[in-house]
Amino acid sequence: MLEIYMQPETITTPDNLEKPGHFCGICGIWSPLPINVHKYTFYMLFALQHRGQEACGIAWQDSTRIKTDKTLGMVSQRMETWLTTQEVSTSAIGHVRYATHGGSGIINAQPIAIYCNKGHIALAHNGNLSNANELREELFNKGNIFQTTTDSEIILHRISHSLKQSKIDILHDALQGVEGAYSLCMLWDNDLILIRDPCGFRPLYYAQKDAVWYTASEPCALYSIAAENIHEVKPGEIIIINNDGLHSYTLKPSAPLRLSHCIFELIYFARPDSELFGKSIYAFRKSLGERLAYTDDLKPDIVIPVPDSGTIAAIGYAQAKQCNFELALTRNHYTGRSFILPTKNEREFAVRMKLHPISSIIKNKKVVLIDDSLVRGTTSGIIVALMREAGAKEVHLRLSSPELKWPCYYGIDIPTREELISNRLSPEAIAHAIGADSVRFMSLEDLHTCAGHDACNYCTACFSGQYPTKLPSK
Ligand code: SF4
Repeated sequence: MLEIYMQPETITTPDNLEKPGHFCGICGIWSPLPINVHKYTFYMLFALQHRGQEACGIAWQDSTRIKTDKTLGMVSQRMETWLTTQEVSTSAIGHVRYATHGGSGIINAQPIAIYCNKGHIALAHNGNLSNANELREELFNKGNIFQTTTDSEIILHRISHSLKQSKIDILHDALQGVEGAYSLCMLWDNDLILIRDPCGFRPLYYAQKDAVWYTASEPCALYSIAAENIHEVKPGEIIIINNDGLHSYTLKPSAPLRLSHCIFELIYFARPDSELFGKSIYAFRKSLGERLAYTDDLKPDIVIPVPDSGTIAAIGYAQAKQCNFELALTRNHYTGRSFILPTKNEREFAVRMKLHPISSIIKNKKVVLIDDSLVRGTTSGIIVALMREAGAKEVHLRLSSPELKWPCYYGIDIPTREELISNRLSPEAIAHAIGADSVRFMSLEDLHTCAGHDACNYCTACFSGQYPTKLPSK
């Protein structure tokens, strides 16, 4: 049955089980006196690891220039180096990477550090420039030589090309015409610069502790260094921190743009202990589960989350239904990094390596499985089969997001429209294809209801096809 929808070259990731790809995480630090910036950058990057596991790196100010240390893989690989170094500095930025644009080799690892006519600059970028191809071609035709295949490098070239004098004027100039999602941390000589695109697609926060400024993609990274009084870098804000203090400026977009926070940050990407866009991630995911339950006639015996992405919504669903919540699908956390699994048997084996049902709980039960989203359906089909093998009487799949049907141009790696199962099959046909008794998605209206009074400030384009910005022409 599964062959109906399996793709011959599916990339299965035992670590995140076929989810839309995370994008990146960024952080930064600025201190009036030299301190061990490596240590604090490590703590923050470690807390942001869920946002990217393919590469990581830091850049720091070293008297007359900017130094970098980057590696492929997880932040823990640099633990010894970064926690034991005796080197001190006044500023640093860090990056964890999932390759949404450009290849995944070390050449594309960030921060990207350059020396140009504007001085020494290092950049860490979270997001995706939706008009990157056009901008890159324009620069290439002017004779620019690119060191990487990332869209982030485009911003550095545009800074270098600017004829303006002050840093703030140069930044305004360089970002005019740059479209899409960009949360940026930059070192520019002795300054730490934080920037967020006017739509506010990706998050960025900052805090001060003991006269030192810290910034990170998510508050969870600032909690890790015990920072308090956390502030959001506002959409369209540029903050420059240096010996003169903190100065805030507003980007002037060339055309009016509407706020478009990525709702997938709330549904799946961000860490549950973070609070993003004014919302508790944990409370939001729980409300999704409750909403799913209120709109569902089913009376299950037990509610089981697909770990870990479905856990919080499953708690909400079970509490609203007043039925048993069981962690009857356990997860092996030690299966390592992504790899390509070309055959059905290998993909099935990868899921079996990762997830283990507890049949004494599942046997003869009417089970509701809760997950956050459905991409290709491959993994879900295998999980349903595991439930049947464990003796489930019925298996019903509930998703705490609407049907994923459209690509993302703002930094999330969603497969092509042809690969997305919801573009080819109705929920009933998906249930048949994956062997479930029923499949139901959260409706877009219910998702808006859960988002509350500011629902119109969110991007939901991957569900609706209604993009908040102009789409790339190339
Ligand atoms: S298209 Fe989807 S994943 Fe991309 S920014 Fe919008 S809500 Fe987020």
